[in-house]
Amino acid sequence: MNIKVAKFGGSSVADAKQFRKVREIVLADDCRRYIIPSAPGKRYGGDYKITDLLYLCHAHVKHSVPFDQMFDMICERYLGIVQELELSIDLGPYLSEIKEKISKGASVDYTASRGEYLNGFILAQYLGYDFVDPKDMIVFDEFGSLDADKTKELVEKSLVEHKQAVIPGFYGAMPNGEVKTFSRGGSDITGSIVAQAVGAEVYENWTDVSGFLMADPRIVEKPKQIEKITYQELRELSYMGATVLHEESVFPVREAGIPINVRNTNEPDNRGTMIISDKESIHANTITGIAGRKDFTVISIQKNRMNADISFVRRILSILEVNSIPVEHLPSGIDNISIVIDDEYLGSKLNKIVKEIREQCKPDAIEVYPNMALIATVGHGMVYTRGVAAKLFTSLAEANINIRMIDQGSSEINIIVGVETNDFERAVQAIYDGFVE
Ligand code: ASP
Repeated sequence: MNIKVAKFGGSSVADAKQFRKVREIVLADDCRRYIIPSAPGKRYGGDYKITDLLYLCHAHVKHSVPFDQMFDMICERYLGIVQELELSIDLGPYLSEIKEKISKGASVDYTASRGEYLNGFILAQYLGYDFVDPKDMIVFDEFGSLDADKTKELVEKSLVEHKQAVIPGFYGAMPNGEVKTFSRGGSDITGSIVAQAVGAEVYENWTDVSGFLMADPRIVEKPKQIEKITYQELRELSYMGATVLHEESVFPVREAGIPINVRNTNEPDNRGTMIISDKESIHANTITGIAGRKDFTVISIQKNRMNADISFVRRILSILEVNSIPVEHLPSGIDNISIVIDDEYLGSKLNKIVKEIREQCKPDAIEVYPNMALIATVGHGMVYTRGVAAKLFTSLAEANINIRMIDQGSSEINIIVGVETNDFERAVQAIYDGFVE
């Protein structure tokens, strides 16, 4: 029988009402055999995530401040879920044991992991599935990196024993058995690891949006949903700010050629977005999506006969390397080169860098343009379609937007343009209208 692995994010398991939706979804398809829940997330704006409360408990203990009130809030959430779902489990002893351990200085990872642990325990009861603790099968090496090979072997071996199981997300164990968590949002990674190990037909990632949209809905009103996107396109769009999944969660399933289906727990009839292998790429649409980011600075350097000075570019790049500044783009002409840098990394180092370039590279002129935004228009389809660039630039020109930089990635699946920060939103809208409307 085909296997589907379904991961449910924090908002999908935030309270009893959401648990009911999850049950309906899981039981609607026999193939949904391995279920990975997060800890309860926010029920409404201003609410607390259980994981955040657990981190706070740990911080209180560390500073010898009582944490009873905070822990009571956690207990209330779980006990409320159990009571409303009319489950006959007594969480009391589990909660007391966890509280006791936290008060005695349990590690921050152990403390944070209890959110998923308790939620998994409750969900397993509610679904009538086995409960499998990931600490016995998701393993890290002594340096704290995931031991992918050993984990795969252990997960495979352990799950053949369970036809249907709930496996809490977010954590595993160190070689000495101590609990270790992934970085925040890491339940996505657990789901991906399990999907790979059991050779799932699909990895379903249930969240509170119906997959990916072609553009940011805060900029474009009601953008179209992306039905299919390749892993590579997703990487390009996520890099430019469109995120739904934990970045590291993609690797195990991508390697195994398993598609990820991003679905909405609150809208289960919507088929969501399917993330598929690059090889399977279909070119139904010329472009797949548009994403962008603000706050870049361009340092433009002029030097007569730049090409003749063969170490010129290397010296510029060394200055950036020494100052730990990654380069985003390097558009160049015959006698000039521009360096596009993310302001987050540039910080207060701008004057220092300009000074070093002047001293070490002796350019004829150097100019700094702050306030640039980059917009990536992404799609495998553009490789096979003529006129994509023409349409893109015409859309921007007609909207009276000045393009400051153009870069077509060598993968040919994106065209990146740089515009003034003030033009950013209008530019995204213009590109979207040009291709979609
Ligand atoms: N509960 C964890 C967090 O809030 C992990 C997750 O939800 O994926 O980061």
